[in-house]
Amino acid sequence: MIEITNLHKSYPVGNRKLHVLKGINFSAQEGELISIMGSSGSGKSTFLNILGILDEGDEGTFHLDGTLIQNLSEKVAANYRNQFLGFIFQSFNLINYKNALDNVALPLYYQGVSRKERHERSLFYLEKVGLADWADHLPNELSGGQKQRVAIARALASNPKVLLADEPTGALDTKTSYEVMELIQKINEEGKTVLIVTHEPDIAEMTKRIVHLKDGLIINDERREPVKAVAHV
Ligand code: ADP
Ligand code: MG
Repeated sequence: MIEITNLHKSYPVGNRKLHVLKGINFSAQEGELISIMGSSGSGKSTFLNILGILDEGDEGTFHLDGTLIQNLSEKVAANYRNQFLGFIFQSFNLINYKNALDNVALPLYYQGVSRKERHERSLFYLEKVGLADWADHLPNELSGGQKQRVAIARALASNPKVLLADEPTGALDTKTSYEVMELIQKINEEGKTVLIVTHEPDIAEMTKRIVHLKDGLIINDERREPVKAVAHV
């Protein structure tokens, strides 16, 4: 599903270079639930953005579902993103003036899905995240946890192969974080591959594999029995 070899990434800082990823080797199979751990600044988001074809490495290879991802035009990259990837962000990234249903439906609009099917699919996924009754509410009428569940429904609606989540619980309290993780675990149990960037050990422990980044390298990569997320703590 995902195959990364010898990935390097630097950012220009003034007239110097900040070497952020220093030779990452990583692969993920279909159905995995993986957390990427590491302290702030360790390159987690940089890594996830490359996996999400939002950015490119300077060196190394990245295969997604057997396709070499390299030097893509913005249009081709957007096609792969639509086809393969769903994104979840710390700050939800919902559109404030659109209700929950329309937020879920918007990416489908850009993918050319018909109005009727957009509506049906969006409702289906809102139901899946437990928010069918909130379909016509605006984001500012929803709690943080509800907003993130709308964002998860939006990510699922185009039926991507992989969900990529950058600190999905970073803006939520513990109880709400565990609710979101409960949902993510359920989605994974239904077969979806999920990668979560987090710096919170309790969140990482709810995944089946913990990949630890430090100083631009993977220093640990361990498969394990996940802790079951229980929301009512
Ligand atoms: P993390 O998500 O683990 O906190 P990031 O991948 O966001 O880490 O950042 C890794 C390092 O790269 C940090 O030192 C950050 O300041 C730097 N960095 C990230 N993005 C850019 C950028 N666009 N330009 C310059 N430096 C960047
Ligand atoms: Mg980050």
